[in-house]
Amino acid sequence: MSRVNTVLGPIPTEELGLVAVHEHIGYGMPGSELDTKWWRSPEQRYEETVPKLRAFHEHAEAYGGGTFVDVTGICNGRDVDYYRSLSAKTGVHIVACTGFVGGDTALPHFAAADVDYLTRQFVHEITVGIGGTGALAGVIKVGVSRGGRMTELDKRIYRAAARASLATGVPILTHLAIDAENAVAIFREEGLPLHRVLFGHVDDGVNAEKTRDVWIAEQGGRIGFDTFGYETELPDPPFWARPRRERLEHFLRFIGDGRITQVLASADANCSPLGWPGVKGHTVNYIFDDLLPDLRGAGLSEAAIRTVFVENPADFLTIQK
Ligand SMILES: [Zn+2]
Repeated sequence: MSRVNTVLGPIPTEELGLVAVHEHIGYGMPGSELDTKWWRSPEQRYEETVPKLRAFHEHAEAYGGGTFVDVTGICNGRDVDYYRSLSAKTGVHIVACTGFVGGDTALPHFAAADVDYLTRQFVHEITVGIGGTGALAGVIKVGVSRGGRMTELDKRIYRAAARASLATGVPILTHLAIDAENAVAIFREEGLPLHRVLFGHVDDGVNAEKTRDVWIAEQGGRIGFDTFGYETELPDPPFWARPRRERLEHFLRFIGDGRITQVLASADANCSPLGWPGVKGHTVNYIFDDLLPDLRGAGLSEAAIRTVFVENPADFLTIQK
């Protein structure tokens, strides 16, 4: 049986429904828990998060359910017991990740670790559990550190992720798709098929011009248009903002070239950010409130929408050994 690891246990792939593949329950930089200014109490976090997940669940019912992939890595406030409680209360499937958002968010303990150690850590979280929760990670997060080029630590994390992916069958999702030549080289050296990797953030306002999305797709990688909702039209335009129309046209251009089976889409929003004020006016429900209407308005069929939000993520997330 094909299955996917969620925080409440493995589920059959067919039960995923509509998938938001790159989201955050609550993301914070390492150490943000020490900041007394922005830290939210458990009550505040539930209050802010539950209505968003309930709305997501209701919207997703038309697709047979909804899955929220939390790609908050180790050291960034990942809190699996909290996710389990949210999933049980709202009915949303939540997939947690192992791995790191980027080398620059790994605390010194992990930053000093070698590839073998990191591989064992990732495999443990996928096959035994995250901390003492018993919940199994369903994806591996890797990323490019600030600065635009992969650091030596980023490369160690990518290599460990490739080995953990091959050992467990769980896929890899990247933060940023810049410097992709180095990433592709590492995955090739390790023998990981590139359809097990989702290269994320090809559409963000800062990197869209320098991201070689077509080239990555030609190599066989999956492409993440996953910062929908970061718009220059917002009153307080966030980092990564881009004109709404421009991002949409980028997406339509890309899938129009016969690449729709390689594309996944998401909003990269925070339900309740940790240690920072967060992005205002943009939640995971942007997918239903704005993106799907925009796609339908542009003439995309319901079948095409299912390909992007149901079938592609199901194929990607399914454990493949
Ligand atoms: Zn993210």
